Amino acid sequence: MTATEEIVQRHQTYVMSTYAPTLALVRGRGARVWDAEGREYLDFLAGIAVTSIGHCHPRLVEAIRRQAGRLIHVSNIFYNDLQPRLAEALVRRSFEGGRVFLCNSGAEANEGLIKLARLWGSASGRYEVVTMFNSFHGRTLATLTATGQTKVQKGFEPLPIGFRYAKFNDLESVRAAIGERTVAVLVEAVQGEGGIIPAQPEFLQGLRALCDERNLLLLCDEVQCGMGRTGRWFGWQHYGIEPDAFSLAKGLGGGFPIGAVVAGPRLAGQFQPGHHATTFGGTPLACAAALAVIETIEAKGLLENAARVGEIFMDALRTALRPFPFVREVRGKGLMVGVELDRPARPLQDEMMKRGLLGLATNVNILRFLPPLIVTAAQARKAARIVKAACAALPENV
Ligand SMILES: *Cc1c(COP(=O)(O)O)cnc(C)c1O
Repeated sequence: MTATEEIVQRHQTYVMSTYAPTLALVRGRGARVWDAEGREYLDFLAGIAVTSIGHCHPRLVEAIRRQAGRLIHVSNIFYNDLQPRLAEALVRRSFEGGRVFLCNSGAEANEGLIKLARLWGSASGRYEVVTMFNSFHGRTLATLTATGQTKVQKGFEPLPIGFRYAKFNDLESVRAAIGERTVAVLVEAVQGEGGIIPAQPEFLQGLRALCDERNLLLLCDEVQCGMGRTGRWFGWQHYGIEPDAFSLAKGLGGGFPIGAVVAGPRLAGQFQPGHHATTFGGTPLACAAALAVIETIEAKGLLENAARVGEIFMDALRTALRPFPFVREVRGKGLMVGVELDRPARPLQDEMMKRGLLGLATNVNILRFLPPLIVTAAQARKAARIVKAACAALPENV
């Protein structure tokens, strides 16, 4: 039995099959990972936008190691020294007068956003949140209901009430979905799972104006597009607007699980003792990891790198993929890059993997790339060459 076969056999016996994994990965460094057979891959997925400063970045490894030997967890019934430092770091990069609630995942952060909105609306009897078709907000009951895709909801009915859906990038559709009980609009600045679809400036700016006009909260799900991925700290910062609150997770801890709700001044004082809680949220260890990520992004100029290499990558892809009529579009923002095909993208994902490049098919016909923010222009060009070779190897082209 190979090392991979041994891992797969044990996994299939003892782990619930919520995923259908492909490779068995055992080691990583920067933008590269190795499987159990010692094969090397260029990791243009980064754990789905999670390992934001690359695998095993020395600063992150050292921060976790040092903090693990000092204090791992104490409970939020005590102060710890790192939680306020991380909260400050997030507020300084987002809104003046903001405050943060720390948790453990994207779904939990979005639950926090939804609870904040409901609490804020409770005095006026409003609780409904308008979300977008094709969005993704998580897999808990509230967040899978917020997710505007029936495929994640099927079999889990009855769904919680309090959600309505509208078309992304269609302001009139949102206007039409707003009712008497509506309290908030929740949107991704760049839809991730939906297929790397950036919000149009008129749309997000129009939503802000619409929310102001109707006294609604504008909430942004920054779980995938936040923490520098688009070339700015937060995706909404490209649009010249401010939401009332936003959620973070994925890239925040560079691979260490942590999520956050960041609320602007309107909502910063909303939660009072007893309203919301989480045992593991904001442990000194998780905060040490997130602080190391933020410091590294700043020290290494990774926002600029994400913007610059993202453009280089998209240009290289557009050139490399021109010969293939089944490639419809290359699009994205910073290091959130999507290649839309006129057919399912999974075969292309598999061909790339055979050639040492990791990416992920999403929403059927879109191939998604979310490389770490430390990725170099040379790696981006190499990845584009592999995508080209993989396209050429697709059955239709052989
Ligand atoms: C991944 C994701 C989530 C869910 O995050 P989990 O940590 O898996 O719960 C929510 N929103 C967006 C935009 C995501 O990409």
